[in-house]
Amino acid sequence: MNHCPYCQADIEGNWQQCPLCKGSLEKRTDKKASDPVVTPKY
Ligand SMILES: [Zn+2]
Repeated sequence: MNHCPYCQADIEGNWQQCPLCKGSLEKRTDKKASDPVVTPKY
């Protein structure tokens, strides 16, 4: 699970960049229930 600090979104999958804003992702192992989850289709 990666986290985008720009979109405040959790990105599932092995992404190097945020698929939404192309920003740098933070590695995150824990998950907050309040965070929105985005599952990119591409
Ligand atoms: Zn983003």
